Amino acid sequence: MNYRKDLEKMPSYDGTEKNYQIKVNANESTLNLPPLVEERVLNRLGYVAFNRYPNEEYDLLVGQIAKNFSVKKSQILLGGGSSEIIEKVFHAFGGDGKKIVYPVPSFSMYKIYAKAAEAQAFPFNLDEKFDLNVDEFIKKVNEVGADLAVVCNPNNPTGNALTVAQVEEIAKNINCAFLLDEAYVEFYGHSAFSLIQKYPNLIVARTFSKAYGMAGARVGYMLAAEDVTRMINKTFMPYHMNTLSLAAADIVYQMRDEFVPRIQMTVAERQRMFEQLKTLPGVEVFPSQTNFILIRYEKATALNEYLESLDIGVRYFSPSAVELKNCLRISMGTRMENDEVFAAIKNFVNGK
Ligand SMILES: *Cc1c(COP(=O)(O)O)cnc(C)c1O
Repeated sequence: MNYRKDLEKMPSYDGTEKNYQIKVNANESTLNLPPLVEERVLNRLGYVAFNRYPNEEYDLLVGQIAKNFSVKKSQILLGGGSSEIIEKVFHAFGGDGKKIVYPVPSFSMYKIYAKAAEAQAFPFNLDEKFDLNVDEFIKKVNEVGADLAVVCNPNNPTGNALTVAQVEEIAKNINCAFLLDEAYVEFYGHSAFSLIQKYPNLIVARTFSKAYGMAGARVGYMLAAEDVTRMINKTFMPYHMNTLSLAAADIVYQMRDEFVPRIQMTVAERQRMFEQLKTLPGVEVFPSQTNFILIRYEKATALNEYLESLDIGVRYFSPSAVELKNCLRISMGTRMENDEVFAAIKNFVNGK
C-alpha cells in the first residue's frame, strides 16, 4: 500500500477511553442539554429536510451568531467543532515551509495540525508557572518570521488566562495571522472577539462543545475580518456541516440563556474544588478560568491508577509531554461527582 509520504509518522490524538462512572477527563459538560432545550431540539429535528443540502440551516446559525456579536455574516465561518476551524486555519497558513508558533504546554492538537498542514512548528515554552510571557512570545513570533501564531485563552490544559489587553498586545505587535482559541471563554467571561474589528490579523475560534454541552454534535465557529474568512473558506469542502448538527446548534444558540446557570455552577464548583485541592499536602493546584483544574503531584501516575480503579477518569498526560510531568487535569462534574473525585484524591494523598 502506497500511502502518502510520512503518514506512518503522523502523530495521532489518543481519543480511546473507557466509559468511566465519573468521566472528568475530556472537559465535556457533565450534563446533557437542559431539558427545555433538548425538547426544542428534538422537535426541531422533526422538521429537518434530509433531502436538501444544508444551506439554509448554515445561514440561519451564521445569522444568529453575527447578530449576537454585531458583525457581518461574512465575518463568520462554521466548522465541525472548532477542531475543524483550527485545522483549516493551520492549513490556510501552512504548507511550503510556512512557520507556526504556539505555546507549550497547550492544546496538544496544535502540533498535529502543524504537521498535517506541512508547516514548520515552533513551540514556545510557557514559564514554570505556566504563564505566557507576552513580550517574549511577540519577540519569538517576529524573530522566526512566523506566518501564524496561536494562543489558547484560557489555556488548555493549564487553565490560566491572558487578559484581553494582553491579547491585544499580541495582536498589535506580531507581523502575522493570530489564531485565538477561545474554547473555554464562557467560563472566563472575557472574550477578545471585538478586537477583530481593529486587528485584521486576528481570528477567534469558538465552540459549542464545552459550555454548551454539544461535544457530540461537532459545531464550532470563527470570527475574523471579511477578507480572512473569504480566504479560510477556500479550505473547506462544500457542505462540510450537516443539517442535524446545524439545526440543533441553532436552537441551542437561541436558548443560550438557559446555559447561564450551569456555567455559573461550573465556575462555582471550580472555585470550591480549587480551595479543597489546595489543602492537600504535596498537591500543587493551578488557578483556572475554565471548566477544569490542573494539579501537579509527585505520585500522579499512581494516583491516576487509583482513580481508574474507582472508575474515575481524569486526564493523564503521556510521559512524552515532559512539561506536564506528574500533572493531572480534572474536569468539573456535578457537585456530587466533584465530591467523590476529591474524596478519592484525598484518600490517596493521605495514604488510605
Ligand atoms: C475542546 C477544545 C477545542 C475544540 O473542540 P471541538 O469539540 O472541536 O470544538 C479546541 N481547542 C481547545 C483548546 C479545546 O480544549
